[in-house]
This record gives sequence, structure tokens and C-alpha cells, in this order.
Amino acid sequence: MLDQHFELSTWERSTRETYDGYATKHIRPLLGTVQVGALNARTFDSFHAELRRCRDHCGRTRHVDHRTPHPHDCDERCRNHKCRPLGAATIRQIHFILSGALKRAVRWGWISSTPIVFAETPLAPKAKPRPPSPEEAARIVTEAWADPEWGTLVWLAIVTGVRRSELCGPWAVTVAVPTSHRTAQGAPLKSPRTRRSARCRPSGW
Ligand SMILES: [Zn+2]
Ligand SMILES: [Zn+2]
Repeated sequence: MLDQHFELSTWERSTRETYDGYATKHIRPLLGTVQVGALNARTFDSFHAELRRCRDHCGRTRHVDHRTPHPHDCDERCRNHKCRPLGAATIRQIHFILSGALKRAVRWGWISSTPIVFAETPLAPKAKPRPPSPEEAARIVTEAWADPEWGTLVWLAIVTGVRRSELCGPWAVTVAVPTSHRTAQGAPLKSPRTRRSARCRPSGW
């Protein structure tokens, strides 16, 4: 089912490569032998638990994570394995890949309903942006002005906080900012209002 879902999905190339990696490393080794009809909420809950336990699905044996799979002399880069959970964002993406595959299975009449809706949906990771402080942003802008075109772009991005796609579109804006909130080059700077927003905006906007 997964193979056919991958074949028929119209993902972009980079997305497909990422998803192929998830399928090879996580989905196939853990669920590959289970028939679609035998999947249930419990399967998915244990699958998610395993993804949260160890991203290498190590089987809880003591072993060394070698720096390369090829013959080598071990050095400090070869270390005793420590289980690390797979990231919340990746677990969520894997959940949605499976969800898509199962919806297709329902449409094709292979199963009457999709069991994944009864499993817990992995939570989205909390946003932890680390925007530069106003002082750091000022240094970035100052450095960028060495090239006027690059400086303009960086300045615009920092003072408006627009997304990259917004930056590429045609638009015009007038910003009035008190001089007390400007850098030496006149760039208005302010810390984000909330950690979640984490975008620098002109003062008073
Ligand atoms: Zn080694
Ligand atoms: Zn492990």
C-alpha cells in the first residue's frame, strides 16, 4: 500500500526524498510486515511510542554507534549508543504520510475505514524560534550594507518581519518609526512581542 501511495502522490522532489527516507528508516522496518487490514489504533500508538523511544529502533541492546559503517579504527566519534527520540515534527509528518496512504486504501475499497483516526495524533512541536536580539539584528544589518542590494533586502526582511515568499512578491509599504528605535543606519528594531511570533517588526506597527 505504501509503495503505491508513494508512486501516486504528487509531492515535490525534495518532499518525496524526505518521505522516502522516513519510509525506509522508520515505517517499513516497524510496520512493513503488517497487512493493511490488520492495522489498528493500538498498532499506531505503539509505533509512535517506538518513534519517541529511539530514532534508531535499537532493540534496547548495548552497542556502539560507529562513526561509519565501513571498516575503520574506532576513535572518540564511536560512542556507546544512547537512545534519542525522533523529533515531534518528524513523527507528525510520518503520521500524515500513513494517514494519506490509509485514506487511499479506503477509497480503493481495501479497508472500510481508516484505523489511524482512532490513534493519537502526534502533537505539533512547540515553536522555539531564536530570533536575533535587536543588538544582533543591528550588527547583521550593518554588515549586510557592505553590499547595498543585499543590505536593502536584509533591512527590509528585518524591519517588516515578512516571510521569504512575501519578500519575493511585489509590494510597497511606508513605515514611520521614531528615531530612538533606529540603528545607526536608520533601521527600526524591536524584540518580538511573543516568543511564538518571533518576527522583528517596526516599532509601533
Ligand atoms: Zn567505530
Ligand atoms: Zn536506542
